[in-house]
Amino acid sequence: MKQSNIKIAVTGGIGSGKSTVCNLIAKLGYPVYSCDEIYAELFDSGAFLKEIIAEFGDKVADGKGGVDRKKLAAEVFSDDGKLDRLNAITHPAIFSEMFRRAEERKGLVFFEVPVLFEGGYQKLFDEIIVVTRDMADRVECIKKRDGLSYDEIKERINKQHNYDLCDFTQYYVIHNDCELSVLRDIIGNLMLKITKKYSQ
Ligand code: ATP
Repeated sequence: MKQSNIKIAVTGGIGSGKSTVCNLIAKLGYPVYSCDEIYAELFDSGAFLKEIIAEFGDKVADGKGGVDRKKLAAEVFSDDGKLDRLNAITHPAIFSEMFRRAEERKGLVFFEVPVLFEGGYQKLFDEIIVVTRDMADRVECIKKRDGLSYDEIKERINKQHNYDLCDFTQYYVIHNDCELSVLRDIIGNLMLKITKKYSQ
């Protein structure tokens, strides 16, 4: 490898299989970091909690000195201006912590990034893997996992980047419309391909 650390984002729509793909990549021994995990950890930081309460007020407080994540999500969900304000606080904090943790890692390093295109964060990464999956399967899995109605799921999907418009020639794409055993093989082959590219 010429570079010591190749940053690779794994992205895709809600329920496309980002976490599933990242778990399989981790099982192959590669370091994987998750924006969602780091976002959850931010709520343990006093400075972050203070900033959120200062921005959104006591209505998102949990009454125990912390922030109620469900209330916060409800507060920003149907108001794009508020969502932008929340993202302006959380996204820089997430990326800076994630890259700090990955600093010492050598070779291919993977990052699960749900809002890569929405936030215009493509340039932060050397490579991008887009996970796609049949819409009906995504809706079915989210229904089961999160107990949402079809309309609620569609609303969430419509708010996201339209992955059908992705320029697939520019990125690596994993079509997650297969058994997990097949997905494992697809990922194994992709790791070989990317490793080869950076070994030349
Ligand atoms: P989110 O955006 O909501 O975090 P995600 O893109 O990370 O979702 P996953 O959590 O990986 O998606 O997958 C959504 C659901 O679909 C999970 O319950 C997962 O187990 C299941 N799933 C993903 N891929 C497959 C597959 N190839 N075969 C069977 N089930 C799958």
